[in-house]
Amino acid sequence: MFKTVVFKGEAEGKNILILGAVHGNETAGTRAQQEVIKEIKEAQHILKSGSVTFIPIVNEQAYNQDIRGVEDNLNRVIKFHENPKTNEEKIANQLIKEIEKADILLDLHSTHCENDQPFAFIDYPTKENLDFLNIIPVQTALAGWPDIYKNNQDIENNCTEEYAFLHQTRALTVECGYHKSIEAVQTAKQSILNTLYQFEVLAGTVTKTEKKIITLKKFIIKEKEGKLLKNFVHLDKVKKGEPIARYETGEKVYSEVDGFIIMPNHDAKINTECFYIGEKS
Ligand SMILES: [Zn+2]
Repeated sequence: MFKTVVFKGEAEGKNILILGAVHGNETAGTRAQQEVIKEIKEAQHILKSGSVTFIPIVNEQAYNQDIRGVEDNLNRVIKFHENPKTNEEKIANQLIKEIEKADILLDLHSTHCENDQPFAFIDYPTKENLDFLNIIPVQTALAGWPDIYKNNQDIENNCTEEYAFLHQTRALTVECGYHKSIEAVQTAKQSILNTLYQFEVLAGTVTKTEKKIITLKKFIIKEKEGKLLKNFVHLDKVKKGEPIARYETGEKVYSEVDGFIIMPNHDAKINTECFYIGEKS
């Protein structure tokens, strides 16, 4: 199971939880945490109050194999499992205890394509979470994820943000950019430091980043063989009525709004999400 590294300040304060490699091959958050842990141990930072719990590698088996998950997508099974069977269900049962203890959760992920822009998910845009979002060093945030899935019984959410929301823990997911890029590690590291500064676990000054919030409108399931019509990248603009994908039968999928293509997956398997459409809020 995962290892935690905890630092405590002398004064009472907020308890922060930082996660990396919830998806085993998304290692920018792991490397960033390792750097910050080293710096705290070397007394390069001043501990003020509260505590921080680092979990640089949440899904160790998946991390060791450089894969997303061993048996499940861990970020879809974050709940209590009465009889945990898979590697990920066992991790979830341990991880939820950490989330329940935390006041603030920062879940660091990274993405699969080179040049991917970093962004944050704000699944629950409460005032507290929007304030938290302000200090995350990315320019784009995606809202509306729970809404687009709420009428779909086949796909359960059960992600870290949802579990946190249900247990009064502030939470954001940051997609720091392409896994293997140095910039993604830097985005992850600045996200960690800003969080620790903002909630006064470490002494330091936060710089805020202006945000564009995009609300997800729908996800598109790939129903049969076919492909996306362009080499779309995440956050590309699309026009209402623009054809986005075509099935081998000739049938096309069009954008219903002037907006953005979100997380296009050119290699999507049949019956999985191949892209999302979002609109600027
Ligand atoms: Zn991920």
